[in-house]
Amino acid sequence: MVKSMNFQKGKGNLIIISGPSGVGKGTVCRALLEKYPDVSLSISATTRKPRVGEQNGREYFFYTREEFLNLREKNAFLEWAKVFDNYYGTPLKYVESILQQGQDCLLEIDVQGAMQVKSKWPTGVFIFIVPPSCEELVRRISNRGTESQAEIQKRLNRAEEEMAHLKSYDYVVVNDLLEDAMEKIRAIIVAERCRVSRVDWR
Ligand code: ADP
Ligand code: 5GP
Repeated sequence: MVKSMNFQKGKGNLIIISGPSGVGKGTVCRALLEKYPDVSLSISATTRKPRVGEQNGREYFFYTREEFLNLREKNAFLEWAKVFDNYYGTPLKYVESILQQGQDCLLEIDVQGAMQVKSKWPTGVFIFIVPPSCEELVRRISNRGTESQAEIQKRLNRAEEEMAHLKSYDYVVVNDLLEDAMEKIRAIIVAERCRVSRVDWR
């Protein structure tokens, strides 16, 4: 018997969630956070204009292009990308402070950003969310009612390019029924915490 065995809860894991626009990433993540408060969502920086109901510091930190590029110059982002003509980036310090507290941190980011994280943070857990069908994706993005017809078309065109990156991810989750998709992501998060390579023991 090893008397000094002591299993510690270590730093949190970085969980990267991507998928085509309108698949339900935001909806699934919000449901997950509401039910399981031991996971936090990183708040990204963006130059996109706030949608109706969005608040600075809640959905995003909204910046001008100049402010964003200044932060990028100072290496303030773990990753950044230009998506649909706007810049988006993950604030590094914010993510580190969440992980340091032992909380898992969700990043809801596009595939370009996810590939940057993969090279910088190889212990990240990469999850790709897909719709049950193309028709359902079109229905969801149209029914959301937050984009013009031109914006919707841009997002649908990009969906195919994004799907091509699926093979670089560790897990794929179909967002058919919201509750099922949320519980699958929860199961992945819990299983990842149990990986022998992640347990901090002495
Ligand atoms: P994303 O963050 O991936 O762009 P959203 O979370 O904004 O997508 O979801 C797009 C739309 O689809 C929203 O109107 C949302 O209510 C709806 N939605 C999300 N998940 C589901 C689901 N499982 N079933 C039906 N509608 C969904
Ligand atoms: P939306 O404008 O609809 O909120 O997001 C558009 C796209 O930008 C989505 O694919 C979303 O995942 C991605 N995105 C949001 N935040 C970030 C980020 O910090 N970095 C990157 N690379 N993509 C992001």
